[in-house]
Amino acid sequence: MNILHEFDTITAIATPLGMGGVGVIRISGEKAFEIIEKIFSNPNFEPRKFNPGWIIDNGNKIDETLVLPFFAPNSYTGEDVIEIQCHGGINVVKNILNLVLKNGARMAEKGEFTKRAFLNKRIDLSQAEAVADLIHSKTSDFAKVSVKNLSGVLREKVNDIRNDVFEVLSRITAGIDFPEDVAEPEYSYLTEKFENIINQINTVLSNANTSNILRQGISVAIVGKPNVGKSSLFNALLSLDRAIVTDIAGTTRDVLKETLDLGIPVTLIDTAGIREEGDNKVEQIGIEYSKQSLNEANLVLFVYDSSQGMQKEDEEIYNLVKDKNHIVIANKSDLSKERHTETVYLSALTGEGINELKQTLTSKVCDIEPDSLDFVTNSRQQACLNRAKSSIEQALLAAQIRELQDLISIDVKSAILALDELTGELITDEILDNIFEHFCIGK
Ligand code: GDP
Repeated sequence: MNILHEFDTITAIATPLGMGGVGVIRISGEKAFEIIEKIFSNPNFEPRKFNPGWIIDNGNKIDETLVLPFFAPNSYTGEDVIEIQCHGGINVVKNILNLVLKNGARMAEKGEFTKRAFLNKRIDLSQAEAVADLIHSKTSDFAKVSVKNLSGVLREKVNDIRNDVFEVLSRITAGIDFPEDVAEPEYSYLTEKFENIINQINTVLSNANTSNILRQGISVAIVGKPNVGKSSLFNALLSLDRAIVTDIAGTTRDVLKETLDLGIPVTLIDTAGIREEGDNKVEQIGIEYSKQSLNEANLVLFVYDSSQGMQKEDEEIYNLVKDKNHIVIANKSDLSKERHTETVYLSALTGEGINELKQTLTSKVCDIEPDSLDFVTNSRQQACLNRAKSSIEQALLAAQIRELQDLISIDVKSAILALDELTGELITDEILDNIFEHFCIGK
């Protein structure tokens, strides 16, 4: 993204292109009002009041619309912003966009509205990233927690840590710069402060694994010998008839994949029965896929038929999964009374035990309940926090051996730089471009 373009006027369609009730075209920048005055029948705007009227091109009516004015700095981007709500439909929206372009705006780049909001200090970088998370969230839980980041929860946590680091740095610096007037801080004060800061960073990092899983999801493979009910379980979890269920052994020839929302996005993989002696060629290919899916999965659901109990063939398959993160599932519980602990009994046919399995599944991969998260972190933010943490760890070691405070201050400054990179106080164009590239046009 070119910084030179930063203050020209940009426009884009803010709603998805397609048929719908309403389409929105957004304009942001100095010329937003000048442009709308040229193409709108009712351009006497007052703050926070929308105007109904016609978009007009050379005397021709294009559409009847509502226009919302936002006067700088009270807008999403911090600049003058106009939002035109027109009728949904690809051509109406495109005609209005072209008219706006013809009258002096240029097409916005990906994420450029949000980038301007960040550059104009309407939001910090963690909030800008939350906008992208919210738009791209694959599950409703992730959307709920991203919105907490948008409201600034992560920013506040990081700012609290930064304030503490800054306080230590100020005291060290005062001692160095004015040795006559200010005593250098006690080493016991420094070690206590550094330990406390490390704990605070650890607390923010403690949900990193769950954050990553919530964002990226996991893949779960269902394995077991033919006819134990893998396809039925796949369908029961998805509540649809995607996999073909038959009572002839070895009929699931392909590997089927579907994503479901269990609070975390779960890609469920139904594999053909793993059987060494599969002589049918198609089935053989399926078996190879099964083994591959097994290796790629974050979690394996090993299924056997509880009405028949664990048999030799089941045990052979179990040996392939026992060292992986797995859950043992005894299916067809409606046909058997067998109940062992450590095994999840369920019936893919009646649905008994399916909800319990969904809960076990989430707890097997997340260290923290997704609902209980106050904020999430992404890998960029985690890297910044880890850098800040190792700098403070260095400072702690140095304080413990009563190193010169001038030297300790170098690590403390590095920690501040890492935290500033997280919030975007200090950031390069390259990192910014990388972040906003993942946005869509119009946001
Ligand atoms: P797969 O080969 O492991 O994928 O097994 P399927 O899902 O195709 O199921 C094989 C047979 O077992 C079908 O006739 C299913 O209707 C039946 N089945 C699956 N789950 C259950 C269950 O929980 N209880 C009962 N009684 N039958 C089941």
